Amino acid sequence: MNIENRILPFGPNYLGNIVRNSETFITIHETSEGTDFAPENRTIEYYEDRLKNPPKGLEQIGYHFLVSDKRVVQFIPLNFRTAHAGSTEGNNSLAIERLVNKNIDFPKAIANQAKLTATLMHKYGIPITHVVPHTYWNPRKSCPARLLAGMFGGWDGFISQVETFSRNQDFFFDIL
Ligand SMILES: [Zn+2]
Repeated sequence: MNIENRILPFGPNYLGNIVRNSETFITIHETSEGTDFAPENRTIEYYEDRLKNPPKGLEQIGYHFLVSDKRVVQFIPLNFRTAHAGSTEGNNSLAIERLVNKNIDFPKAIANQAKLTATLMHKYGIPITHVVPHTYWNPRKSCPARLLAGMFGGWDGFISQVETFSRNQDFFFDIL
């Protein structure tokens, strides 16, 4: 599987530069809060359109990647910040969103998110302690809600998947 280049044209969701080194964080998201599954039409294209034609007031929102069970797409270049974490500090991190619509294979989508996390850690020397849930930056946001609720192995299960993939570079993606 390759990362699909769906990088958005330069616009309001480009916020300035990110320095990528061992100080950098990776923030893990799910596309909606709460533990219900989203409708089938909440596809990668749905979220891409939402970033391109945002509702008023949400123009700055973005995320670097969105993953599903079958695809990994990139929307924002890795040298740019974007608004995904609800705080300036959090927005200095690399954002990986994951789809939660009910017609996807959740364990596979979570594994893709973990593989991409391991890839970025290796590429930029980011430690596992800097892989954090969205709620780390904004405690009012219960995101990624399903992992935080312990579903599909929970947050600890996600981190141990990342560690497993980190040890085997065969799983790494080619970075755009
Ligand atoms: Zn989030």
